[in-house]
Amino acid sequence: MTEEICTQDNVLTATLNLLRTSVENLKLSPVVYEYLKAPSRFVEAAIPVEMDSGEVKVFTGYRSQHNNVLGPYKGGIRYHWEVTPDEVKALSMWMTLKCALVGVPFGGGKGGIVCDPRILSKKEKERLSRGYIRAFGSVLGPELDIPAPDVYTDAQVMAWMADEYSNIRQAPAFGVVTGKPLSVGGCVGREEATSRGCAFAVREAAKALDLPIKGARVAIQGFGNVGGHAALLLAAEGCTIVAVSDSRSGVYNPEGLDASALIAHKKSTGAVAGFPGSKPITNLELLAVDCDILIPAAMENQITCDTAGSVKARIVAEGANGPTTPDGDAILFKKGVLVVPDILANSGGVTVSYFEWVQNNYGFRWDAETVNKRLEDKIVEAFRLVYLFTHQNGSTLDMRTGAYMYAVKKLSDAMQIRGWL
Ligand code: GLU
Repeated sequence: MTEEICTQDNVLTATLNLLRTSVENLKLSPVVYEYLKAPSRFVEAAIPVEMDSGEVKVFTGYRSQHNNVLGPYKGGIRYHWEVTPDEVKALSMWMTLKCALVGVPFGGGKGGIVCDPRILSKKEKERLSRGYIRAFGSVLGPELDIPAPDVYTDAQVMAWMADEYSNIRQAPAFGVVTGKPLSVGGCVGREEATSRGCAFAVREAAKALDLPIKGARVAIQGFGNVGGHAALLLAAEGCTIVAVSDSRSGVYNPEGLDASALIAHKKSTGAVAGFPGSKPITNLELLAVDCDILIPAAMENQITCDTAGSVKARIVAEGANGPTTPDGDAILFKKGVLVVPDILANSGGVTVSYFEWVQNNYGFRWDAETVNKRLEDKIVEAFRLVYLFTHQNGSTLDMRTGAYMYAVKKLSDAMQIRGWL
C-alpha cells in the first residue's frame, strides 16, 4: 500500500466523501449535499466541575445537531479522552443516516465530553453529566434533540441528565433522553438493543451468504455493552464465540469461549485477559482470527489498509460506529467480505430509543416481547431493503455505499416535500 491510500482515517472526510458520492450516484440536486455536509448547528461549551478534591476543572463538551428533516435530532453522548469536533460531527451524520435507513422519525445528533471517565469518581461523573445539561439544555428537549448513551455513558448518566433537565424545566421531562433506567421511563431491552439489532443483522447476512448461523465462528472486538451482549445473543443462536478483546487485550479459544462466564470474569477482574482455557491475543490479532463473522464493537478506524488484508471472516458486522476506514472497506470488498455497515448493523440502539420515546410520550410501557419483535421487524426490513437496493444498483456497489444511497434518497425526498430544495 502506498502512504497516500493509507491516510484516510479522518472519519469526517470519509463520511463527506460517501455523502457526496451518494448524491452524485443518485443524480440528486447538489443542494442535498450542501444540507448534509455540515451540522445545522454545532455547539461547544465549557463545563466547570468541582472535583472531589475541591479543585475546579473545566471540561469541553460538544453537541452536533446535524439534520432534522425527518424529526428531532437524536443521538448519544460519549465521554472519551479522544473526543474531537470532527468525530462528533461525523457521528451525528451517521445518526441522520441511521434513523433514515431504519425508518425512525428522528434526525441526527451527537454529543461528547473530552474527559477520561475511567478516573472520575461516581460523584464527579454525576456533576459532569449535570453540567452538560446546564450547558446544553437550551438546545435539547423531547421535541428538539434527544441524547442517549454512547461510549462510556450508561443508564445512570441518562438518569442524572433527565433529572437535571427536569429541574431546569421545573417539571418531569424524562423524554429528553433515552436509554434511561426502567424506574424513570426506560424501555425494557434498551441496554442490549444495539447488540440484539446487530445479531438480527448478522443472521440476515448469514442467510444471504447461505452460511449456517448454528456453529458459525464469531470474533468480537470490544467487550463493553455492545460486544458483551452480542456475544451472549449470538451464543444463544448457536454461534461459537472464538475470540473477544477489550481495550487492553484479547482472548482466543478455537473450541469456543463461554460468553456468560467471560462476562463474569471481566466483571470480577476488570478485563477479559486471563480467562481460563483461553490463549492471549492482541486486539490486532483478533481482527485476523480464523472465523466466519467478525464484529468490531469498539472504536473507529480499526479495520484499515494495514489490518483489512488479514481479515478471514466472510461477514463483518459493524457493532461500533466507523470501525472501517475507506481503505479498509476497499480491501474487504475486493476480498468478497460482506460488510454490514454501522448505520445498519448498530441501528438497534436508536430503534429501541425511539420505542422508549414513544412510550414516554404516551405514558405507557411495552413488554419485552413487543419491544424485541418490533426491533426484529425493523432490522430485518432495513437489511432486506438495503441488500436489495445495493444489488439492484449493480454488483459494483458495496453495502455501505448502498446503505448511504438508500438513506440519502429518503432524506432528499423529505427535503423535497418540505420545500427545502
Ligand atoms: N449511541 C447509539 C448510537 O450510536 C444510540 C443513539 C440513540 O439511541 O439515540 O446509535
